Amino acid sequence: LLTPVPRQDWELHHENIELGKMLGEGAFGAVHAGVLTLKDGTSKKVAVKVHKGKAINKELIREICKEARTMRRYKHPNVVAFYGVAIEHEPIMLVMELISGGSLDSYLAKNGNMVSVSERISFSFDAAKGLEYLHDRSCIHRDVAARNCLVNDGRVKLSDFGLSRDVSAQAKAYKLKNLKQKLPIRWLSPETLITASYTFKSDVFSFGILIWEIFVYPKASEPYPGMTAAEVNAQVKAGYRMEAPENMPSAVKTIMVQHCWPQDPDERWSMTNVRKGFEELVACNSSK
Ligand code: ADP
Repeated sequence: LLTPVPRQDWELHHENIELGKMLGEGAFGAVHAGVLTLKDGTSKKVAVKVHKGKAINKELIREICKEARTMRRYKHPNVVAFYGVAIEHEPIMLVMELISGGSLDSYLAKNGNMVSVSERISFSFDAAKGLEYLHDRSCIHRDVAARNCLVNDGRVKLSDFGLSRDVSAQAKAYKLKNLKQKLPIRWLSPETLITASYTFKSDVFSFGILIWEIFVYPKASEPYPGMTAAEVNAQVKAGYRMEAPENMPSAVKTIMVQHCWPQDPDERWSMTNVRKGFEELVACNSSK
């Protein structure tokens, strides 16, 4: 009897991925709803990112495989599950959990005034739990923002980390040279703006911007309303911070301003402490 060549569980075949309706478009390529047929013949609904570039070289494939192996192990209710990659031929496809509600920024823009304060606290708590989980596994997200969170049944999950982010970053760097595409200046910490380096603590700063987005919608479309990106860049480096949104409870404001936004990264809380902060608020809310 021939035993089949063992395959890594994150290696998928193109023929087992059926593409359906397009859900959105990102730096990596189009995102489609799809169906993945598993080895045992069963199938499940998934989301598929279809790489649009042709500039895939051996080096990048090696990187993708390494990252896919790591991401396959991430399993958390507040982190979008990653199922695997199809890399046998182009286009490269990344297969992940399908999140029907779409991105958090569009959810907030659409449902705006109907989202209660306690729901906003719960969204923040979800995102904190997801980011704490990634940090515990030595993963720095580097692009924490409402547009990179997805919503499902009132639950928030972090997406666009690891592989999809790394590959998108390559696409973006490529674009930067060619199209002068902007960096997400409005989410970056002062030290990231200065040194272009990312740490757990720069993620915590961006998490503070995410909380601001969660509470301000739908009144403003972007952080630092009324300021140009160049102004944000200069002002944030100089210590300027946004006002807290009106409806933000003072306890949330304290976490955002005093524990996520200090100029000195060492003075910022860890995501574990941020998560604990929101855990207390959720407990208070539910006992009311
Ligand atoms: P990129 O990282 O390549 O820029 P995104 O991750 O931002 O792309 O995805 C683009 C859009 O596709 C999102 O705004 C969202 O609407 C949709 N999308 C992404 N991932 C999923 C998913 N897992 N389930 C459902 N929709 C998704």
